[in-house]
Amino acid sequence: MPRPRKKGRRRELKKVPRSTATLEEFDRRSCPEGLVTRRQLRERGLCPGGHGPVAVLRCKYCAYRPDQSCNHPTRAWLYDVKNARPKRVPTLAQEWALDRAMAARSTCPQCLRRYYFCLPLRTQGCCDPCARGYEPSPDTYFASTAPVIHRLAA
Ligand SMILES: [Zn+2]
Ligand SMILES: [Zn+2]
Repeated sequence: MPRPRKKGRRRELKKVPRSTATLEEFDRRSCPEGLVTRRQLRERGLCPGGHGPVAVLRCKYCAYRPDQSCNHPTRAWLYDVKNARPKRVPTLAQEWALDRAMAARSTCPQCLRRYYFCLPLRTQGCCDPCARGYEPSPDTYFASTAPVIHRLAA
């Protein structure tokens, strides 16, 4: 049975009177200097640094209803710049180091194949195909790092 539609009633969000019990709310124009949104933090290369939001940036719509709390999805959390910390950006060297570490964990020391997954090197010491003596399926390892067969130059 279809639900009867309520006529003449616009879908309205719950009206909550503005109070100081929850986080403080600021309008876009009167937002204090030290409070920024997540996006602004990111633009400055910062992260919240483990601290939660300290205030709410009210949506544009709520500028016309200052007595109500903004509970619209377009509101934004405001973070205190003082609590923010620089975002850790991996340098190229760090990425290489990470890749080397990953390569070490996914390369079999016996057949020198580099697999797409980590190997049980600590327990088994080599890949499954080496341990049990079968040929691995070619889609489990990088073709370029397959054992190099040295051919004599013709
Ligand atoms: Zn709002
Ligand atoms: Zn192997």
